Amino acid sequence: MKVTEHIKQAKGKTLFSFEIIPPQKGQNIQELYNSIDPLIEFDPPFIDVTTSREEYVYIEKQGLLDRKITRMRPGTVGICASIKHKYNVDAIPHVLCGGFTKEETEYLLVDCHYLGLDNVMALRGDAMKHEKYFSPTKNGHAFASELVTQIHNLNQGKYLHEIIDSPYKADFCIGVAGYPEKHMESPSLEADLRRLKEKVDAGADYVVTQMFFDNAKYFNFVEKARAIGITVPIIPGIKPIAIKRHLQILPQVFKIDLPESLVVEVEKCNNNQQVRQIGIEWAIQQSKELISRGVPVVHFYSMGKSDNIKAIASTVF
Ligand code: FAD
Repeated sequence: MKVTEHIKQAKGKTLFSFEIIPPQKGQNIQELYNSIDPLIEFDPPFIDVTTSREEYVYIEKQGLLDRKITRMRPGTVGICASIKHKYNVDAIPHVLCGGFTKEETEYLLVDCHYLGLDNVMALRGDAMKHEKYFSPTKNGHAFASELVTQIHNLNQGKYLHEIIDSPYKADFCIGVAGYPEKHMESPSLEADLRRLKEKVDAGADYVVTQMFFDNAKYFNFVEKARAIGITVPIIPGIKPIAIKRHLQILPQVFKIDLPESLVVEVEKCNNNQQVRQIGIEWAIQQSKELISRGVPVVHFYSMGKSDNIKAIASTVF
């Protein structure tokens, strides 16, 4: 079922959902199930599965370094299919512009359609590890709005090349990313919101936000989005702080601010066990306020660990 239908069916009740990252190549899917199992009792209507950008690896061959492209965490669509059938929950693959040609994207979407995946999250992806800035893949998309257009076209039965004349139409519900503290490359929040509006105008059905730790940023973002005519659901994304190093990593990687009172509390901790507890309590307060303000879903970034998400969900759902 589509995310928008889940929201409609909930009739104002806030839903619980979360995002997982595929295991590294060679690992067993059972580990993934082990992290999903404890969260199923909270009835997630959908689970997101991320996609990782390709990476370069250097292999030594007769004294020379050979550069090869690899994916450390492949399998997003397959994992979605297995989650859907094992748990009877909608699983949402993240589809990236970066690393995929338009044709490869079309094949991936056709696979999703065959597998009965009703939703896809359309994202540009970040720059590759060795790159400073994102550069589009040859014959790929430069911005998520273009990817949304491709998916929307497929929903109208329009494939990339006219030679494929298929009577079948896809019917994907399309999610896109939004940034309450603006995307790192955007000159201003207003400019970034205009880009978000382009994604919605191209056919996006809902937005999931980047993590934030101050709910005021989310409420301000939603207000500004509504003011420029973005009417689709805007789902808040919450990440519980889990280790002391998150104080450096999260602002550096995601270009987000952490509230001073949270920073002070984390700095006081003597070990990561204590940090984890602070992260849980902070996320509980955030979630309670978001729910009291009627958000459609609270979406958690689990990063493969479910104990803290379980502790939060047991208190608020
Ligand atoms: P876009 O919407 O294309 O925007 C990127 C930047 O370009 C923004 O600054 C925007 O303002 C600007 N822009 C947009 N259109 C134009 C235009 N026409 N001209 C000029 N500028 C423009 N990354 C992954 O690799 N894998 C994942 O699974 C993944 N999941 C995510 C899930 C969520 C909920 C979020 C919030 C992010 C996720 N990301 C993921 C990260 C995401 O790929 C990065 O944040 C990426 O840098 C931007 O993606 P986007 O889809 O927002 O890009």
